[in-house]
Amino acid sequence: MEEENGLFACGLDELIGSDDWPEVPEVGAMEDSVAQPLMAAAPSGGCRIHFNLPGPGNLRKMPMTTVVSSDGFDMDVDRLYTWAPAPNHAGGLSVAEVEASVSKIFRDSKSWMAAGIALRRVPFEEAQCIVKYVAAPLECGPVHNAAGCTSGLDSRRLIEMVVGVFGRHKGLMHELIHAFGHGRHNTIETCPSVMGGPKGIWPTPSDIASTRKWAHS
Ligand SMILES: [Zn+2]
Repeated sequence: MEEENGLFACGLDELIGSDDWPEVPEVGAMEDSVAQPLMAAAPSGGCRIHFNLPGPGNLRKMPMTTVVSSDGFDMDVDRLYTWAPAPNHAGGLSVAEVEASVSKIFRDSKSWMAAGIALRRVPFEEAQCIVKYVAAPLECGPVHNAAGCTSGLDSRRLIEMVVGVFGRHKGLMHELIHAFGHGRHNTIETCPSVMGGPKGIWPTPSDIASTRKWAHS
């Protein structure tokens, strides 16, 4: 469910991934025999994330900087999005636990850093985006049992997720796209994406390419 006001309600399938999608090989390991039929079946214009905001959305421009990812790679970034954990979380999670887990995921080389976007933890008052783990069921606008919800003004977005997805990366990658670009859900089965796709995937090559292009438009 998506609305013009920037509210996005997401199901568990979107946060974790769905069994209905075929397994997607690791990024970079996709052989031509797999990739070519997928590409051939892609809609004209190819697979890409569709953003409701014009680029670069809520991202800020910054000088090109090289940062080390949480898995040890040098990454060039020139777009910035700031975040902070909420002051309280469900499930007995401490702010420090949330910060450690989310930071590690956000700063992974397979995260949106691969599209040139730094996701920087800043003081709570300054953050463009707050991440909060909540108890199920999650109320999200008219949806009473969402698993994830991104809402709020563009200057101060709120990502809420049910505590059951804590520690998993796909939901965070998914909600960030709603948060900084009002990106839409994907339903095209030939276009696996963190916006709709198989379990446990990181942003796909088409996710990264289209987000990079949007972020720099
Ligand atoms: Zn969603």
